[in-house]
Amino acid sequence: IDFIQALQLEGTKEKKEEKEKSEYQKMRMTIEETKISLPVYPFKEALIEAIRNYQILIVEGETGSGKTTQIPQYLHEAGFTDDGKKIGCTQPRRVAAMSVAARVAQEMNVKLGNEVGYSIRFEDCTSDRTVIKYMTDGTLHREFLSEPDLASYSVMIIDEAHERTLHTDILFGLVKDITRFRPDLKLLISSATLDAEKFSNFFDEAPIFRIPGRRFPVDIYYTKAPEADYIDACVVSVLQIHATQPLGDVLVFLTGQEEIETCVEMLQERTKRLGKKIRELIILPVYANLPSDMQAKIFEQTPEGARKVVLATNIAETSLTIDNIIYVIDPGFAKQNNFNSKTGMESLIVVPISKASANQRAGRAGRVAPGKCFRLYTAWAYKYELEDNTVPEIQRINLGNAVLTLKALGINDLIHFDFLDPPPHETLVLALEQLYALGALNHHGELTKAGRRMAEFPTDPMLAKMLLASEKYKCSEEVVTIAAMLSVNSSVFYRPKDKIIHADTARKNFFHPSGDHLTLMNVYNQWVESDFSVQWCYENFIQYRSMKRARDVREQLAGLMDRVEIEMVSSISEDANIRKAITAGYFYHIAKFSKGGNYKTVKHNQTVMIHPNSALFEELPRWVIYHELVFTSKEFMRQVTEIESKWLLEVAPHYYKSKELEDSTNKKMPKTVGKSANSQ
Ligand code: ADP
Ligand code: MG
Repeated sequence: IDFIQALQLEGTKEKKEEKEKSEYQKMRMTIEETKISLPVYPFKEALIEAIRNYQILIVEGETGSGKTTQIPQYLHEAGFTDDGKKIGCTQPRRVAAMSVAARVAQEMNVKLGNEVGYSIRFEDCTSDRTVIKYMTDGTLHREFLSEPDLASYSVMIIDEAHERTLHTDILFGLVKDITRFRPDLKLLISSATLDAEKFSNFFDEAPIFRIPGRRFPVDIYYTKAPEADYIDACVVSVLQIHATQPLGDVLVFLTGQEEIETCVEMLQERTKRLGKKIRELIILPVYANLPSDMQAKIFEQTPEGARKVVLATNIAETSLTIDNIIYVIDPGFAKQNNFNSKTGMESLIVVPISKASANQRAGRAGRVAPGKCFRLYTAWAYKYELEDNTVPEIQRINLGNAVLTLKALGINDLIHFDFLDPPPHETLVLALEQLYALGALNHHGELTKAGRRMAEFPTDPMLAKMLLASEKYKCSEEVVTIAAMLSVNSSVFYRPKDKIIHADTARKNFFHPSGDHLTLMNVYNQWVESDFSVQWCYENFIQYRSMKRARDVREQLAGLMDRVEIEMVSSISEDANIRKAITAGYFYHIAKFSKGGNYKTVKHNQTVMIHPNSALFEELPRWVIYHELVFTSKEFMRQVTEIESKWLLEVAPHYYKSKELEDSTNKKMPKTVGKSANSQ
């Protein structure tokens, strides 16, 4: 990589300065010292004063200034919880909600879940004593269903507002409305720079409280030519920094768990080979599904003489602040959920980040000392290829879930809902159509009884529908298991690089002939039979933690099934019933075999393929249903199960016409197609 030479030259220059104890070492501090050192601290009194004076306040301050961890504590100390009401603080990401709550509990010297707690989907870690509650924006969105006036809160902080997630955007409209009839409720909109004016305009010219940032300069380096393999480039860059640069921790931005794990393994392998030739390098991952004790590790102080490298998703861009980062490596990509409103297809894709994100990432290197940011793309690409800002989620993702919740809140006229930026008209219409097809809305656009039941589930409407359909097909036990496993699916199977063959063999042992949904169910059921054994997971290359999480999710879903009065019954001998229930929820996600091992989606004729990890990868049945699409080199269907086309007429007669499904069973398959197709 071409900036490495520059690094090496500089490295020699800077070695001399090394004995002046790098700035970051001076930053080792106690909790109390840290609190006082944060940029927000000098503004404590003024901030409280402003909150007393105004009902709505926009708080703007750079990432790491202490907004998320400190402001709720200040409010608590100032008596905002004395009347028995809570301070709520939303976060766009689960990991942030958990990690920040843990930190604040530690700062206040209380047990997490008592005075300070968090609530995220499928996991509530709060109690009657909780006065500071962190939660995801999605969780608060759902809390409106049970407490439409937020009566138990004295202050609500919509944090990380600049992230503009779908839920945060919808919360803006909801909380703005609440403040009108709850004059005693204080509302803070907190954001890392940028959109403060825009928020102020939206919230009836609410005053902006600016916390001046303290930022050290960050030198930015670009590559001269685009990198073909950015994972490898990251690994090389980390090692180069480690070998040539003064101590100070490194933060690498990657797009997801798989990439991070690959990178961790590569780094471990190469540092092992280098052995004693280099100083200790502590390699730590962070991503959404990482268990919380592992997450906590990134905040531990780096031992004297060692260097820490944190490999993170864009969660570390603004949601989490890791102290003492001096070097940032930014390949320039992030994973994004994208929705095509023409085809109604949703897929996860890796996209270039925006300039705003790139600058946030770079800024992470300059919190405690002057830093360096290595961009693994060219200066030209930065200038001409990156968009200025990331498009808010509401303008690019499927709104089905949001619309269902809003309808359940009694908000019928969505076209005139108070949006900060309205979603595209066609996306809104498509969401309404989808909910209609799922039976959640009637033709007046009103919530049906089924819709009301679906809204009880904190899930995608399709998944909720699948759960409801299990009642008719008498397989609620199985479908709840499948739903729980789908919620952790990407991390169930463990595939360490050096044991891939063993891992894949183990995985194949679980394969169910009908596909991945029942394969996931097999995994879960066998784990239950093993009495939830850790050893069993280990032997079968199954991630124990994912299974534990699946068990928790399953328990919650079973509780919700009880709420909507669906009995838990089993039809294990009839797997067609289970697959019909899945089809009743996911009939939008149907693809039909076409030439060359490809599939075409039924309604829009898009080319898609079965993911290589699927149980059906070599089977190629004629009709399949998929859980999600993931775009990497091609558009892949993940979690695929074979269905019979005639089921579609049974579960979604208003959506499919028999003509579309005509050639399902009577025509012969071409010879090349493989066994399962012939056996039909
Ligand atoms: P902001 O919300 O303004 O971005 P934060 O309140 O998140 O700032 O961060 C303030 C400080 O708290 C930072 O120095 C950060 O490192 C520290 N911090 C936040 N979460 C944790 C944690 N889980 N463990 C240790 N330190 C943390
Ligand atoms: Mg924050």
